[in-house]
Amino acid sequence: MSPVIPIQVEHGCQDAPVLRERGQREVFCGLTGIIWLHRKMQDAFFLVVGSRTCAHLIQSAAGVMIFAEPRFATAILDERDLAGLADAQDELDRVVHRLLERRPDIRLLFLVGSCPSEVIKLDLSRAAARLSQRHAPQVRVLSYSGSGIETSFTQGEDACLAALVPTLPDLPTLPTPPASATGQDAAPELLIVGALADVVEDQFRRQFEALGLTQVRFFPPRHTGALPPVGPRTRFLLAQPFLGDTARALEARGARHIPAPFPLGAEGSAAWLTAGAAALGLSAERTAPLIAPWRQRAERALAVHRQRLAGQRIFFFPDSQLEIPLARFLSRELGLQLVEVGTPYLHRGHLAEELALLPSGTQLSEGQDVERQLDRCRAARPDLVVCGLGLANPLEAEGFTTKWSIELVFTPIHGFDQAADLAALFTRPLDRRQRLAA
Ligand code: SF4
Repeated sequence: MSPVIPIQVEHGCQDAPVLRERGQREVFCGLTGIIWLHRKMQDAFFLVVGSRTCAHLIQSAAGVMIFAEPRFATAILDERDLAGLADAQDELDRVVHRLLERRPDIRLLFLVGSCPSEVIKLDLSRAAARLSQRHAPQVRVLSYSGSGIETSFTQGEDACLAALVPTLPDLPTLPTPPASATGQDAAPELLIVGALADVVEDQFRRQFEALGLTQVRFFPPRHTGALPPVGPRTRFLLAQPFLGDTARALEARGARHIPAPFPLGAEGSAAWLTAGAAALGLSAERTAPLIAPWRQRAERALAVHRQRLAGQRIFFFPDSQLEIPLARFLSRELGLQLVEVGTPYLHRGHLAEELALLPSGTQLSEGQDVERQLDRCRAARPDLVVCGLGLANPLEAEGFTTKWSIELVFTPIHGFDQAADLAALFTRPLDRRQRLAA
């Protein structure tokens, strides 16, 4: 009898041990999401119920980007509110009334909770329900929390979209065809979930159309009048990895999640589009030749960056929740070596396809104990560090080359056409450091 040779199955990092840390964290709060959400939803307004600190954060983060009258503001809780001496609900009603009188263009108003509003337990969901009743049908009022207590900054988008899901119209059900006829559910529709830059959304729409697939919608939409319907026929594809609550809310409406890597880089974009097409009945064999020219063009554009980046060692501090898809893209398509990939939260379900593609043995960490992580980073001396703004300057002063993770959320990085732009975000700091050294 011949000996049995055990076959080593490559699972990437699906079962890899994860270093879990619960210590001091260096992250922004969920209010930051307002910056890109207010640009995406063009008739929505974000009213932060918070302190002067919250107002300063929003103003300084967005100040440079305002070209028209802003669609966000802060209702400032003062000492009387915080001490419970004033009826904050009454004051909020007055502020909202004044705002809606002055801004008749607003169709959707978000009351955004903050650390102070949570500390004094101001019930914004009750306020939203009351104000919605008062201002319907012109304006719908919803609430969510952007508080920085135990959150990462991209969770603001998740909380906002999760609050919006119950307001989506129902997707009508259709009689299911006999399984023998098609092997498919009745007329599935595809929902792309996550705020994408308009230019990226338009590219994806055109690409699905080029595959002959037109039953594709995007959430969040650009206007409140275009809220996509949802129901058991909905198959949803996440465009961002930080939308756990939104996914749960969609599943509660009967929608089904399509597992896929995220559309970062040529490989990720191809796998993501293929998964979306498959959910609508187009096989991978039929999709591959159709997307091949887009993929090849992206790969050609990446080649020049690969020459610069291959072999560079990169360390991710946990911040945007994009770390794992980015690490997969950088290691597989650009040849970087992953020293440590830290992420604030590791959603194993939504990241399963990504984890499978990471090189075996990658050091993963979840949560943060910032001093210990800084020690690991200093000991490893990586060529490039991806981190939040608070850590970037001190690390630069110590001689490290850094990349602000928040830039990866503000910049269009998804899809084939953005693959080289995404790579350039990592080559630029290395080139700058080289020029400074010269
Ligand atoms: S929500 Fe909290 S963390 Fe964010 S700016 Fe306001 S006080 Fe600071």
